[in-house]
Amino acid sequence: MRSTLAEYIRLFPEPIAIVNSSGEILAINDGASLFWQQDAQELMGKSLAALLQQLQEQVQAWLKLCQGNAQMLAAPFPIPKPETDQWVIEGIGVNLDDEPAILTRIVPSVCHNQQLLAAQLQQLHTELARQIALVTELQRRQQALEQEKQHLQILAELDPLTGLGNRRFFDTALNQLWQQAQDQGHALTLALIDIDDFKAYNDCYGHLAGDRALQQVAQNLKAHLRSNDIVARYGGEEFALVLSDVSADTALQIVERILHHVRELKIPQAETAHHPYITVSGGLCFIAAQESQSTLTEIFAIADAALYQAKQQGRDRCVLLECLQNMSFNP
Ligand code: GH3
Ligand code: MG
Ligand code: MG
Repeated sequence: MRSTLAEYIRLFPEPIAIVNSSGEILAINDGASLFWQQDAQELMGKSLAALLQQLQEQVQAWLKLCQGNAQMLAAPFPIPKPETDQWVIEGIGVNLDDEPAILTRIVPSVCHNQQLLAAQLQQLHTELARQIALVTELQRRQQALEQEKQHLQILAELDPLTGLGNRRFFDTALNQLWQQAQDQGHALTLALIDIDDFKAYNDCYGHLAGDRALQQVAQNLKAHLRSNDIVARYGGEEFALVLSDVSADTALQIVERILHHVRELKIPQAETAHHPYITVSGGLCFIAAQESQSTLTEIFAIADAALYQAKQQGRDRCVLLECLQNMSFNP
């Protein structure tokens, strides 16, 4: 608002200055600079009374009057100028960033005309309102763009088939949680959950049925996790989750419960599969609170090795491996 008004007064040729309630110059236009034959920088902060060569109290009293008035008030101070002293200063109270200020201008006394003043004042108000509306519109558009950007960001991290977060989402979330676990010194478990014999399921029931099964498993995973656990479709028929701040035993229990719920969906499997209904296997990597040397790549490798073991042992089960310092994994 302050800069808008300061810019606006520059459009006028006559000397205009904005002063604070003590009469110190806050902004001026080129007309004022010419009038006092000083450049803008020099004039900033100077006292209007000194510039007008008037008594401070007298100018102060007049400024006070202007401040409380929505009408331009003229003061017939004899303003010294070499060629003529027929000048009048006019002032009106304005609000500058919630601070009271006075817009003053110096006009030859012959130009001092109430009607002209009122018209110009009206123009000033209209222009200010127009500029405020422009700024408001710009802000609104910026907000809309920001919302659109957020929406696109959400879409970019979403798996369209299951509605879960995708790998990109998971990697970002895992990095954050990993950092948090290290900063706050708590445990973290990464679990990879893979649908068993899914190729056989697709071969038997078709890809569309496969998609529906994927959706059902995804919904089931989501429904049986705590709200602060992170779950995502990591790729194909594989899901990934992070469980923060739980013991290895609890992490195992949580994943075993997930396995149980998937089993209970009772989605018939192909005859060639290991189990009569769709099942999942889980590979968990548990990182204890004091273990902070490992990298996420190592942690993934450990969870993958655990998943491999679960598959080897007959599927529909989970295996937890603990991530230990100075070891890539502990089979
Ligand atoms: P395992 O128990 O060892 O995991 O065996 P699997 O058959 O599940 O594993 P494999 O990697 O041999 O096959 C995975 C299958 O998952 C093959 C692929 O067509 C299927 N799949 C991956 N993504 C999708 C998908 O989006 N929709 C459907 N319908 N199938 C998918
Ligand atoms: Mg599989
Ligand atoms: Mg797989």
